[in-house]
Amino acid sequence: MAAEVVKETPAETEAKPKIEKQTNCLACNKIIKKLKRYYRDGKFYCSKKCWRVFIDKSKAEKTEENK
Ligand SMILES: [Zn+2]
Repeated sequence: MAAEVVKETPAETEAKPKIEKQTNCLACNKIIKKLKRYYRDGKFYCSKKCWRVFIDKSKAEKTEENK
């Protein structure tokens, strides 16, 4: 049995209740320009390519969880 202690600080992550407008791409974290933004599933990306990257990432995470 591993005696690992995972310290979590939920208070810190939930300290800011105000909703900020998403201005950065979820895949590359660049600031999205209004003219070039790519909207998908309620989120913004700077391009379709970045959307694909983000989808692939989240898929990979899900498959890891299923193991
Ligand atoms: Zn991007």
